Amino acid sequence: MSTHAARENFDPEFLRRKYAEERDKRLRPDGNQQYQEMKGEFSYFLEDPYVETPIDRAPLEDEVEVAIIGGGLGGLLAGARLREAGIEDIRMIEKGADFGGTWYWNRYPGAACDIEAYTYLPLLEELNYMPPRKFCDAPEILAHCRRIAEHYRLYDNACLQTEVKKMVWDESARRWIIHTDRNDKIRARFVIMVNGPLNRPKLPGIPGISNFKGHTFHTSRWDYRYTGGDAHGNLTGLRDKRVGIIGTGATAVQCVSYLGEWAKQLYVFQRTPSGVDPRNDHPTDMNWAASLKPGWQKQRQKDFTAILTGRGGRRGEIDQLDQFDDAWVEMGKIYRRRMREAGKDVPREKVLEIFELSNFEKMENIRRRVDEIVKDKETAEALKPWYAFMCKRPCLDDRYLPTFNRPNVKLVDTKGKGVERITEKGVVVEGVEYEVDCLIFATGFEVGTDYTRRAGYDLIGVGGQSLEEKWKDGMVTLFGIHSRGFPNCFIVGNGQASFTANYPDGLDEGAKHIAHLITQFEERGITKVEPTAEAEKAWAAEVLGTKASGPQGGAGCTPGYYNLEGQHDPRARRNQPFGGMMGANAYFERLEAFRAAGDMPGLELS
Ligand code: NDP
Repeated sequence: MSTHAARENFDPEFLRRKYAEERDKRLRPDGNQQYQEMKGEFSYFLEDPYVETPIDRAPLEDEVEVAIIGGGLGGLLAGARLREAGIEDIRMIEKGADFGGTWYWNRYPGAACDIEAYTYLPLLEELNYMPPRKFCDAPEILAHCRRIAEHYRLYDNACLQTEVKKMVWDESARRWIIHTDRNDKIRARFVIMVNGPLNRPKLPGIPGISNFKGHTFHTSRWDYRYTGGDAHGNLTGLRDKRVGIIGTGATAVQCVSYLGEWAKQLYVFQRTPSGVDPRNDHPTDMNWAASLKPGWQKQRQKDFTAILTGRGGRRGEIDQLDQFDDAWVEMGKIYRRRMREAGKDVPREKVLEIFELSNFEKMENIRRRVDEIVKDKETAEALKPWYAFMCKRPCLDDRYLPTFNRPNVKLVDTKGKGVERITEKGVVVEGVEYEVDCLIFATGFEVGTDYTRRAGYDLIGVGGQSLEEKWKDGMVTLFGIHSRGFPNCFIVGNGQASFTANYPDGLDEGAKHIAHLITQFEERGITKVEPTAEAEKAWAAEVLGTKASGPQGGAGCTPGYYNLEGQHDPRARRNQPFGGMMGANAYFERLEAFRAAGDMPGLELS
């Protein structure tokens, strides 16, 4: 990684101006409303193309101790931590035909994780598993999800291919009744909802989107029957096809090279370029693996989150940054070098300036890499991201940029405006129609919309109150986990809780916390638990009072789901993680302090 070359080679004033201009081009008054929900005539986009054997079973009417809704990494971690705590009567309920969540749905060619496997894949020590390479791809992660489910016996009693439609609280029995699309009525003493932050794909609200007559799908429902091949490529069905892909986020960055390799012609429609760093993948050093001491993975995860949330300082003799060798920590290393050069007792304003310069240097490295790889100057210019590091999800990929040197691949840059129109035959940008046989939407997922809309079901709690109604002005919770009027129900998510790029870290903290609570309730014979109204009020004030101190979520960032599309919607602000994108570790400490207090302050127990 060339961390030094760009350091004296940029003009901060120019960059400040350029970033602001590029952001302003993209700000739009409709924010999140610009997207098209996948319902009605668009609901076919949600169909599951991966089910091999559709199940046919009689409706269930039974009871379990704990129901877990969602079988992604969060649900699996909740199940694992409950099993470790000795809780046996568990039922997982999952829409997909298998566990995996995002890794069940996202099987597009090239799908992989950009966070190193040693940090991302949970429960490596518990399962005695060491990933063969630094980075793992989607099939390996899906296999790991199955490994967790098998190890902790989570397939037992599970309801797969089952979608929750409604949950109703029965006050007299102190049980939830879970209604599903298979007409089940499952009674549960406790419910853990882990619906996932990116579980509901979205479409752009481009005029004419329903007119397109060719083949179309969203990347999270990849149609291999049409393209041929699998997650490793070999898309032979595209040899004679003109393909268009809309979106250039982390998903597109991974699948575009495969489309470029196989399609007769590929058009990549871009609104905002991603920043693409080298991947530097390598096989796992087995000597290193053998040298690891028990507890290594949790510590590594903590160190990684500490770095991402600006707390990556020294820990004893070991610098947390040095154990990682990829682009996620490059900016931290630049900052450390610049701080060292600045000497001792650097005043606060100077620290902020050094932080900004480090970010400029990091992004200059990314922009220079585009020039080094992409031969056509105009294309290279269009592929350069003009915003601060972490304004958008960083991408680590070695195949994306060289794809634009292929004669059959054209970048159609919309200069921040987005696609103008979709016609029967293709896509229009600046008045030019690009005809395609297949149009792929790599347009991401709903993040800022209402919880119940994203979950796909509502909760009817004490006194018939609905969660949708209670949260109509934004989330009302304690720790993002409990909501008054919805007893014995626990949420693991990022709203009023935590968000970190290594998402399983937050999921595991939530899972451990809830397993601890449920064990305590069982031991103490508690049958109903909900937060007090005062505790919810105080938590909301804390969430609103904390602000992201880095560029993530910052108003100066280019719009995207990290900053609510650049909008200042007070409702959406209430739904943000505690401490914005920088608060994960502070949030984990709050949960830890709560557990240590023992008397469960803020919870009403009966
Ligand atoms: P994103 O939301 O990141 O990207 C959506 C893309 O669609 C953006 O490029 C967006 O442009 C574009 N878009 C939206 N509307 C229009 C329009 N009208 N015209 C043209 N373009 C449009 O979704 P992804 O699926 O790429 O990624 C979602 C998240 O999933 C990531 O942020 C990451 O957290 C996770 N992920 C992680 C991976 C990993 O570990 N490697 C891989 C894949 C995903 P604009 O930027 O201008 O809004």
